[in-house]
Amino acid sequence: MRHCSLRSTLSMLPALVLGAAFLLSPGGVLAQNAAEGSDDVLIHAERLIDGVSARARGPVTVHVREGRIVGLADGYIEATQGQQLIDLRGHTLMPGLMDMHTHLTSEFGPQSYVEPFRLNPADIAYQAAVNARKTLDAGFTTVRDLGDRHNVSISLRNAINSGAVVGPRIHTAAKSIATTGGHADPTNGWAEHIRYAPGPTEGVINGTAQAREAVRQRYKDGADLIKVTATGGVLSVAASGDNPQFMDDELAEIVATARDYGFQVAAHAHGRDGMLRAVLAGVDSIEHGTYMDDEVMAAMKRQGTWYVPTILAGRWVAEQAEVDGFFPEIVRAKARTIGPLIQDTFARAYRSGVSIVFGTDTGVSPHGDNHREFGLMVEAGMPPMEAIQSATSVAARFLGVDDQLGSVEEGMLADLVAVPGNPLEDISRMGEVAFVMKDGHIYRQP
Ligand SMILES: [Zn+2]
Repeated sequence: MRHCSLRSTLSMLPALVLGAAFLLSPGGVLAQNAAEGSDDVLIHAERLIDGVSARARGPVTVHVREGRIVGLADGYIEATQGQQLIDLRGHTLMPGLMDMHTHLTSEFGPQSYVEPFRLNPADIAYQAAVNARKTLDAGFTTVRDLGDRHNVSISLRNAINSGAVVGPRIHTAAKSIATTGGHADPTNGWAEHIRYAPGPTEGVINGTAQAREAVRQRYKDGADLIKVTATGGVLSVAASGDNPQFMDDELAEIVATARDYGFQVAAHAHGRDGMLRAVLAGVDSIEHGTYMDDEVMAAMKRQGTWYVPTILAGRWVAEQAEVDGFFPEIVRAKARTIGPLIQDTFARAYRSGVSIVFGTDTGVSPHGDNHREFGLMVEAGMPPMEAIQSATSVAARFLGVDDQLGSVEEGMLADLVAVPGNPLEDISRMGEVAFVMKDGHIYRQP
């Protein structure tokens, strides 16, 4: 469905004739929810980063109709009657951004460790809707959610898809799968008299039968993929931030069961040994990857495992660790040790040729600040164009949706964002998103 014959024909016509073809646009579909504008839109942009080409081009006119990109031409083509014109001169237009590691149902703060005792699922849901809006406003039109509570991210995804709530397209793992006492055991750090032993339904497993059951439970709940916490983590109230927490047979069972349902498996991992186990078990991505060494990188390249760096999360926890009382002391020590290492891991992985896809772990850091990851990637040696592609065409390929998303081409879904100026010269421009279109609906414009 990527290119119907009419669209292919349009793409070959010279600009002037393409302009005439725009006259044929039918009217019709009502704009959705908080979105504004007509269903037949011309966008004039000074510069286009199309998500796949090595260079920007411009000026360009992009024609959007009924949620799809139906024309792309050099120069500014005049709008015809009934067409809405979006003037993005002075701006750089690019595909909707994609963050492969977020947690829309939470945002870390000093209250985080008491929230399980105070918040009901409905409280979490309202906050998640606010976080979703912030994410979309920041230009992120598609995200993976890698760990929620009470399956709220599944309901949020459905509400967004139905048009009831404004937010990005969500691919969610729902509740992460951990082992007893592991990173994502929801009862870590609780007093004995309230602590209990969660099971596969709540995403805590021991042994292969429970591993299977937990994956199948996620399918029953309506998740899109699986997340496992292969090693200790920084923010859990537990001693180790990097020890292995699954046995080989448990990881193998999770991956094999996930395959039956077409699920990707994302593995949180800081420590080398647990990370290597996860890679060899066949997970699709390593999240954070802090103590990744040459052997792990070689295994990832051999296995086709992706790296989702989340440099921002490391930077943010390291910053907060300097604030007295922000973290419990057991967490503070891990934040200080692990947080500052991730950017260097990213630099080494990039130089060694590991496949890297954009992800921030936002929800650790504040929602809407996802763009900070771009600056951290560029600072560590990745050219700005590659950083942007890692959050567009590369992310779309990683998710298996590159026939619909991740590039500005005829036939693709109309997810488009723009920033003022040129982010290839100043990557901090990625934090100044001025235009957001998702599925052809405009949510933000200058
Ligand atoms: Zn995370």
